[in-house]
Amino acid sequence: MSQTDCLFCKIAAGDIPADVVHRDDRVVAFRDINPQAPTHVLVIPTEHVASLDAAAPEHQELLGELLLAAQAVARTEGLSDAGYRVVTNVGPHGGQTVHHLHIHVLGGRPMGWPPG
Ligand code: AMP
Ligand code: ZN
Repeated sequence: MSQTDCLFCKIAAGDIPADVVHRDDRVVAFRDINPQAPTHVLVIPTEHVASLDAAAPEHQELLGELLLAAQAVARTEGLSDAGYRVVTNVGPHGGQTVHHLHIHVLGGRPMGWPPG
């Protein structure tokens, strides 16, 4: 179910343009508009789920699909050997700014730890 006021629902529907690198019925991946690394791709479900915290047992398979899509993106982008970072921000303390579940795939440079 899409939400009319949700930016990522609109990207998933193709109503707002994005640099899409993967699309199927349930998952879309596109380049972040403000990349934080040489490769920065967002992987989202086409279904509106507000965050990881809003996911339910019925989303178990979808959550697996999102992670496997993140893996596939990393492989396609040539990140697998050097490694990469997979992140989902949740809520205010997590730094979430778009309230549609998304997985960041970041790579192409070494990542720091702990995160800020
Ligand atoms: P978060 O802060 O974890 O909620 O991540 C939201 C991400 O969405 C940020 O990295 C933004 O740069 C990115 N973003 C916002 N608007 C767009 C857009 N229209 N196309 C692609 N990425 C976007
Ligand atoms: Zn949405």
